[in-house]
Amino acid sequence: MTLIQKLKKGNVPGYVKNIARCEEVSESFIVDKILKGEVVIPGNPLHKDKRFTAIGSGMNVKINVNIGTSGDRSDIILEKEKIELAEEMEADTIMDLSVGGDICRIRRELISKTVLPFGTVPVYQVAASKQYESGSILGAGESDFFSVLQQQAEDGVDFFTIHAGINFEAVDRIKKSSRVLDVVSRGGALLFEWMEVNQKENPYYKYFERVLEIAQQYDITISLGDALRPGSVFDAGDELQYYETLVIAELIKKAKDFDVQVMVEGPGHVPLHKIEHQIKAIKDMTFNAPLYVLGPLVVDSAAGYDHINAAIGAAIAGYAGADFLCYLTPAEHLCLPDINDVRDGIMAFKIAQQAVNLSRGKRAVLDRELKVSQARKKRDWDEQMKLFLDNKKAMHYRSKLPPSISDTCSMCSKYCSIKIMDGHLSKNTESAL
Ligand code: SF4
Repeated sequence: MTLIQKLKKGNVPGYVKNIARCEEVSESFIVDKILKGEVVIPGNPLHKDKRFTAIGSGMNVKINVNIGTSGDRSDIILEKEKIELAEEMEADTIMDLSVGGDICRIRRELISKTVLPFGTVPVYQVAASKQYESGSILGAGESDFFSVLQQQAEDGVDFFTIHAGINFEAVDRIKKSSRVLDVVSRGGALLFEWMEVNQKENPYYKYFERVLEIAQQYDITISLGDALRPGSVFDAGDELQYYETLVIAELIKKAKDFDVQVMVEGPGHVPLHKIEHQIKAIKDMTFNAPLYVLGPLVVDSAAGYDHINAAIGAAIAGYAGADFLCYLTPAEHLCLPDINDVRDGIMAFKIAQQAVNLSRGKRAVLDRELKVSQARKKRDWDEQMKLFLDNKKAMHYRSKLPPSISDTCSMCSKYCSIKIMDGHLSKNTESAL
């Protein structure tokens, strides 16, 4: 039985009640949002000992960490270290994008390793297994797409990215479009190639009900992938992007008939001035379903710093109403990320997340920010270190050049403005919240 079916019967699981408390909303509010399709809580019961998280309207914005092997590097120890780091840094979900090595074994080991909700892009397994058997995804039959879903469902995957929005008409439109970068989604490009060469409709689109049947049986949340997301700021908001959004809207209606939870994936590369409009338009077109954005990156030229590039876009997207932020690392567009890249990517997105949740007036976030400022005013360095998002890095910098006056720092030293003002004014800041 899916969560939606349970709620329709008036059975509210304990984890939903706990989430309502953590999200500072009432139980009836969150139940109503889930029933309307505006909030999802991914939760395949076969993924044991998992931490549940709510994604969607009225919730804290969440961040996802992508991990996974490639054909050039398949090191499961490294991928496990990435999971440990993501958990330590309090990321909200994990997605395994592995395409190299024994990806079934890797997935099973990674799911059993993490308490975080776990997502995959099943078409990668279709491609990787056919690559091994016959050299390419082109040899895959329609049934292969569904046997992979079944297998991953039995492994305990909590949410699937399914690129069901790329259909024959989309392929036709891609061929006629004047895009700078045609299809940058890996899943989208694989499906485009499979459809083009085999002259067959996308199985996920044609037989979407089969996808939903599996999702229903295992209570898997479907994340409708944006195969046609803009991969250049010059393609943002074009006809292809919005055509796919319309198809996705139709698929959401079908999912409602199956009581399956659904998210929508969004851009991509979007210039700063177009983000707010895009987020609002996509949310409107998709019935306010939870929106999961990849960045978006606000420029195309920041390779090596795409975690910052994307975190800028993510903060604006979150402020405009996006619900779920997929992190990027400095290695984006360049190579498979290592553990330091993952750390930098998570941190950039933790800042975007904190900024968005502050703007949403979330009490725990406001409280932490106020405590930082109060500790800064008192020049209480121990307290500040406890509250910083990355206290290890903060301690490293403070100890790099210790101050000559212990309650200041070596940036201004005796000209510390906070210290100069101290004693001249006496104010109570407790009422700032
Ligand atoms: S010395 Fe300057 S930078 Fe350091 S705490 Fe004081 S005002 Fe801030």
